[in-house]
Amino acid sequence: MKKFLEHKLAEAKRQNLYRRLRKVESAQGPVVTVSGRRLHNFSSNDYLGLAADPELKKAAAAAIRKFGTGAGASRLISGNLGPCSHLELELARFKQTEAALVFNSGYAAAMGTIPSLLGPGDTVIVDKLCHACIIDASRQSGATIRVYPHLNLKKLEEHLAWANRSKDPNSNILVVTETVFSMDGDIAPLDRIAELKNKYRAWLMIDEAHATGVFGKNGRGLAEQFGVENEVEITMSTLGKALGSAGGTISGSRALVDFLINHARSFIFSTGLPPATCAVATAALKKIHGSPSLRKRLWDNIALFCKRLGRDPVSPIIPVEIGDEARAVDVSRKLWEAGFFVPAIRFPTVSRGKARLRVSISAAHSKKQLEELADQLKKI
Ligand SMILES: *Cc1c(COP(=O)(O)O)cnc(C)c1O
Repeated sequence: MKKFLEHKLAEAKRQNLYRRLRKVESAQGPVVTVSGRRLHNFSSNDYLGLAADPELKKAAAAAIRKFGTGAGASRLISGNLGPCSHLELELARFKQTEAALVFNSGYAAAMGTIPSLLGPGDTVIVDKLCHACIIDASRQSGATIRVYPHLNLKKLEEHLAWANRSKDPNSNILVVTETVFSMDGDIAPLDRIAELKNKYRAWLMIDEAHATGVFGKNGRGLAEQFGVENEVEITMSTLGKALGSAGGTISGSRALVDFLINHARSFIFSTGLPPATCAVATAALKKIHGSPSLRKRLWDNIALFCKRLGRDPVSPIIPVEIGDEARAVDVSRKLWEAGFFVPAIRFPTVSRGKARLRVSISAAHSKKQLEELADQLKKI
């Protein structure tokens, strides 16, 4: 086996696709210590700077004091601890849905949801750039998968028309899209997608991983911004990005959540999240609700950074296209040497030959940090 593994690893290195973990020796924040170096951190999805927030830490400590550190079992067995149930009520209230269900990660939420709703004979239609968990979950379901080129609604409609025509009355069609795309930072035209899915009587599932806490008047996400929340059957999100915690969530109707409690294998066969993790997410929701200024600070930072680079501000994710894998790694290393942590994103996270730097902006960045990175990027 050793020979096989070494061969595979050498191959990845030759293609500049080898990855290694870096040890971060401080909390997430605008500055992090990595391998002994202090770096301006533009690598994190901690968009609101909540991952090390004092109030969230306090909420974690209080939950540990009362409920201990582990859930002890899957939630259906004996692990349905108070902070988790409380979080689900707060999530449903926040997302303004009848109910919400917490999974152990966003990945697990997708893996639990799509295969329990769809099977052979059904059709799932996904944007080409959807996250790996949506692709993996779609494959797992056994449904027919139709992929449309990124944001190509003409192709989406063709797939919908095809699926609708060949549909037997008992089968279902699901359209899945990210709302803010994780590696391109662009957004899906949810109003038009909702229109199409209604026209062809499909269901719509949206992944708000990068939009929750960031978009919408109340921070609920891009569906709020587009005013289409009532058109969406399934909303997925993560608690690990703007909410500064960990875990995933599905929000929607009471029936959807009850169905998932009974069918989603990643929910049924996995130990519940630690109580502190849930308490932190609840505290984050309160903070997002109570401090719109946090979101404003984020958007001011995005505007400042984009203006300096001569780009339109779209989302906190700003890709700097490079193309060649070796060059992307090299530019990331140069930035590292200049004191900036900006990861190079390569295949298989993005297509081959589409390597890029991915800059993530946070409300916690200072104006000076943003200006300096923009100037460095222009120089390189
Ligand atoms: C991060 C991410 C996920 C997975 O969420 P985790 O909680 O990190 O497992 C799902 N979808 C998108 C678009 C993401 O960016």
